[in-house]
Amino acid sequence: MERSVLLIDLNNFARFPTLPVGLMVAALREARWEVEVLSPLAVGVPGIPRPTRAPLWGYWDERARWWSATTKSRTVRSLRRSLDALRPHRRDTTSDRLMAAVSASLERQPKVVLISAYLMYMDAVRRICAMCAKRGIPVLLGGPAFHDSATRTEWATIDGLTAIYAGESEVGLAVALHAILEGAPAPKGLTRPGHPDGGLAPPAQDLDAAPYPDYSDFPWDRYPNRIVSMLTGRGCGWGVCKFCSDVVTVAGRSFRSRSLPNVLSELQFHREVHRTSLFCFSDLKLNSNLEMWRGLHEGMQRAVPGAKWTCAVHVGPRSDEGLSRDDLVAARQAGLVRITAGFETASPRLLSAMRKGSQPDRMAEFLANAHGAGISTRITAFTGYPGEGPEDLNLTTQFLEEHGKYVERVHLSRLSIQAGTPLNEEMRSGQLEGLGFSLIDEQPTLASIGHMNSMTTSKGYKRSISKLLRAVHSINRRPIRSDALELEGAM
Ligand code: SF4
Repeated sequence: MERSVLLIDLNNFARFPTLPVGLMVAALREARWEVEVLSPLAVGVPGIPRPTRAPLWGYWDERARWWSATTKSRTVRSLRRSLDALRPHRRDTTSDRLMAAVSASLERQPKVVLISAYLMYMDAVRRICAMCAKRGIPVLLGGPAFHDSATRTEWATIDGLTAIYAGESEVGLAVALHAILEGAPAPKGLTRPGHPDGGLAPPAQDLDAAPYPDYSDFPWDRYPNRIVSMLTGRGCGWGVCKFCSDVVTVAGRSFRSRSLPNVLSELQFHREVHRTSLFCFSDLKLNSNLEMWRGLHEGMQRAVPGAKWTCAVHVGPRSDEGLSRDDLVAARQAGLVRITAGFETASPRLLSAMRKGSQPDRMAEFLANAHGAGISTRITAFTGYPGEGPEDLNLTTQFLEEHGKYVERVHLSRLSIQAGTPLNEEMRSGQLEGLGFSLIDEQPTLASIGHMNSMTTSKGYKRSISKLLRAVHSINRRPIRSDALELEGAM
């Protein structure tokens, strides 16, 4: 076939089709490419699940995970990494079943193979590249985390890989294909083995110009319900948190917003094409643009009568964040059943150090108002920020004990230091050494740095972690509001 693309979606979400892949399909079809999408879910490979209600043993499970991640023992750490590679969602991407499906699709001789992948899927990418090399089919790889030049350099050594594209599909995917297939000059963002690093394509500016994502190739009958993932903009209107890797990724750099009529029209499009009224807004913070946020409250039920939706917001420092009691009541009336906010910690000192822009009292007020409006609330938090001591953990535990009645889920993780973030620079330049941080290893293929935080090994810290894990577990054991159940696990 002259202009045919096989697009392999290694990211394979369990709850809804992958948005960047839908965007790519639409852009390619608009440019008159024939596209075949290989979704692992369609061939029986389970998608990546998101945590829902904690099991009875969840507390002990979390303690074991925390201990194995922070122990001084190299053996345990390395065992943990090996076990990570065996996690179902990673193992399944290299399964014979998926590779057989890839092989069958390659028999149709596509002109080029595109792979969309997170960095944990290197083994699967290697295997697919080897299969393509045998058949003389070029492979173009992309994904949100190829923003770092060291990462691209490592991945570009994969045998059989033709190039990596680090850009949004609207901005140059067609030109990148032209370059690798016909030898045209490489656009910005295209890295080829044996050539200098191609850097990053510039961020897309006119988001309204992109076609709506095309999800028609995904196995809709294999999702528990029909949720469509939407974006009203890219990046984050706050965008300065020192630990945040979302705002340095290929699509997260700089805040850009679509127009409200364009978003409402896309909602109507999905209602008609996919017969759905469930939406997950995947924007980093949907209240970045207040005109969009409040416009959705007014327009959502007109665009999709009976719509239910979920999103993330930032409880930030602006005098008006669009999160007053009245705003949240309006949002609930517009169908917002579940909301996520980045809480991170209840330590004002740490919030300020990480430039989070939020304060515990504002977060408490937001949670009470959202709960009072009838919205299911979920917060994210993490431990291990430089300088964190037992007293900081205790503040977070106290916050959860006091305000947990307004919170339905807490997603608690450990700090990971990602390439391109200000924290990464501080780590590399030795600024964190005084705070007990030491570098274990560079992991360019994963765009991260392995580190050891000596503070976490003290008895007092461990006691505080146990209390925090118990507080989190007691919240995560509860059922959530029944009208938000369809969207539980979407975010
Ligand atoms: S508010 Fe959230 S998305 Fe925005 S920079 Fe901070 S952590 Fe990242």
